[in-house]
Amino acid sequence: MITIHDALILTPDGPVPGDLTVEGDRIAALATGNADTHIDARGGWVGPGLVDLHTHLREPGFEWKEDIRSGSRAGSVGGYTALVAMPNTSPAIDAGHLARFVTDRGREAGLLEVMPAGAITMGRENQALAHLDELFAAGVRVFTDDGDGVADAGLLRHAMEYLAERGGVVAQHAEDPGLGRGGHMHEGLVSSRLGIRGLPSLAEETMIARDLALVRLTGVRYHAQHVSSAGSVELIDEAKRAGLPVTAEVTPHHLNFDHSRVESMEPCFKMYPPLRTAEDVAAVGGALAAGIIDVVATDHAPHAEHECEVPFEEAPRGVIGLETAAAAVLTAIELSAIGFFQKMSVIPASIAGLASQGQWIEEGAPANLMVFDPEAVWVPERFASKSQNSPFRGIKLKGKVMATIFAGRITHQVSS
Ligand SMILES: [Zn+2]
Repeated sequence: MITIHDALILTPDGPVPGDLTVEGDRIAALATGNADTHIDARGGWVGPGLVDLHTHLREPGFEWKEDIRSGSRAGSVGGYTALVAMPNTSPAIDAGHLARFVTDRGREAGLLEVMPAGAITMGRENQALAHLDELFAAGVRVFTDDGDGVADAGLLRHAMEYLAERGGVVAQHAEDPGLGRGGHMHEGLVSSRLGIRGLPSLAEETMIARDLALVRLTGVRYHAQHVSSAGSVELIDEAKRAGLPVTAEVTPHHLNFDHSRVESMEPCFKMYPPLRTAEDVAAVGGALAAGIIDVVATDHAPHAEHECEVPFEEAPRGVIGLETAAAAVLTAIELSAIGFFQKMSVIPASIAGLASQGQWIEEGAPANLMVFDPEAVWVPERFASKSQNSPFRGIKLKGKVMATIFAGRITHQVSS
């Protein structure tokens, strides 16, 4: 039995100060119990464990970067109790047995819930549809070729028709391969100054615009991944106003940094979509606060140290994010405790259909929780992830995960 003392508890009726007791894998009472383990929350927030819709766990195929166990460890340090694992592994998760492998490995690690996302096309090759039926039967609800956008509108339409009927979500890494070809950073003033080939915002916006037309046709639930530009925000806002079943995510790095960071030529500022202009950063932050962008997702993308010790153009795509996400979000924008847990847990859990995640704290609810001190200031240096490619290394952040509880067990706790 675990009692958390002196917390601001995020209940269905809003934040309530008090104590909380966990027994077995459930919340037993919003009161002190006869516990053998005590956590002093000191006025910190206790809310549902965070849920990430966009994690690269790299297993199978790239275990030197991360594996399901090490990625689960990084997630629990970051306050997460569930992750949706992207399917751009080797092999890609395009069939039922592969999805079950990911789920099973997650269960073996036992630190949080791992839900596999399925590929939309076989091998993510944009040639034929993946085994959507098998994937769905294996529990997959989020489908994406993440790493690439699905360029073939005909294939995407068929996937959308199939998944609209079943109730799946099409998640898109929106990047037109022609417009994006050869780009290493945002196409703009900084890329011209550095002489590095750029990738325009239009590569994202044209694909989202096309997809929204297909959503209108098929009625499928559509989720725009890592939205990075003001133009994309406008398209999503318009689609929502028109009543389309559309959601969107933004990453902590797109909330915090603009393309001027690339002047350092540090590979930990290379990601797709790239860091864009200060106006874009303001637009995605404003959209998150206003609910036009629904959730924060990390796009946690581990790469080993030796892979990053290369010129910027040759560096791999993406940065890690699980262990800094909660703090990086609060450092970038002001959120109430309710707003924070909505965007980091409640809404992501409902998009992915994770029934035992993202629930406000009450008696009988599953004990998937995190304790967060919103005032703590710290500087990240080393990470539990196998990879260390973080853009937040050495940067002062506000807000720290003090403890994480998954299925009634403490999976992370800061020693005091
Ligand atoms: Zn992506």
